[in-house]
Amino acid sequence: NLILAFESSCDETSVAVIEDGQKILSNVIATQINSHKRFGGVVPEVASRHHIEQITICIDEALKEAQIKTEQLTAVAVTYGPGLVGALLVGVAAAKVFAYANDLPLIPVNHMAGHIYAARFVKPIVFPAMALLVSGGHTELVYMPYENEFQIIGETRDDAAGEAYDKIGRVLGISYPAGKQIDELAHQGKDNFHFPRAMIHEDNLDFSFSGLKSAFINTVHHADQIGETLDKADLAASFQQSVIDVIVQKTLTACAKLPVKQLILAGGVAANRGLRETLDKQLAKSQPELDFVKAPLKLCGDNAAMIGAAGYVAMNHHIFADANLNAEPSLEFDWVPDAVK
Ligand code: ATP
Ligand code: MG
Ligand code: FE
Repeated sequence: NLILAFESSCDETSVAVIEDGQKILSNVIATQINSHKRFGGVVPEVASRHHIEQITICIDEALKEAQIKTEQLTAVAVTYGPGLVGALLVGVAAAKVFAYANDLPLIPVNHMAGHIYAARFVKPIVFPAMALLVSGGHTELVYMPYENEFQIIGETRDDAAGEAYDKIGRVLGISYPAGKQIDELAHQGKDNFHFPRAMIHEDNLDFSFSGLKSAFINTVHHADQIGETLDKADLAASFQQSVIDVIVQKTLTACAKLPVKQLILAGGVAANRGLRETLDKQLAKSQPELDFVKAPLKLCGDNAAMIGAAGYVAMNHHIFADANLNAEPSLEFDWVPDAVK
């Protein structure tokens, strides 16, 4: 089984060739970060234009690198949501044309399922599984009773974790996307500011990061006004510790509540060193029987390899699309009956 996978939901154009849903033959990623940096975030029109310029180059590269001829392919998989509509449309159109021209089945993939299934490149997923999905646009606890079934049991009520990193990055003078640099800075500082841990003791599995963001910004502005300079590393460490404390606490609670055999950490923020280390430590201490899989560092951010992995699973469930497939910017996981809770 050889799947040609497409990803273009945000600011990465990516095409990959995946064998049997778990082996990466190629994973070409054209990032546009440098074009968006000076705007402090992703500009949708700029993103679409870059995708159009890059997509055919990425297809050629992916096939060449995998040393695969078009005739050998089994199917085409593509992200059709959630994401920026103009960006998604480029990948969807390209995948549809490629599939039609080469008489290949087309598999529609949810970008967030893709993030989760990046874990398949580490080891097989064991069900029931719990996914901690932390990215630029989402912060969710997703319960998966079976393969290809997703139930959101907790989510952010305002900002996503990655979004919070990027927003406080601006205040620290760190350019978009700020997560990685704040993570590094945090390791050189101390949690001296004790920012709030929103909702940590509440009896639910939801998150909130906008209060933390405001507390952070107010602290920096107040210091500015009285002419005081605060230690950037300490600010970063304090912010990061608050994010990690809440995420880890809620995740441990979720895993204790449900019959979970495996925890999957996925999404762009899953690359966070502090989060990976803390979860390792806390799980070993409180739930040692729980298997913990972290998406590979290189596959935490957006890429087509993860779309190929999720596409393989969808294909096994006979999920196919036709030429009517459209981009769905607000795509959500399919509803799962309460009975499986
Ligand atoms: P979504 O997947 O929700 O649609 P997205 O695709 O834009 O959103 P991803 O590419 O999954 O988001 O992740 C990007 C986010 O991850 C950015 O907000 C970035 O700052 C954050 N990020 C990347 N590395 C780290 C890190 N080491 N620590 C914290 N955040 C990080
Ligand atoms: Mg991105
Ligand atoms: Fe993403």
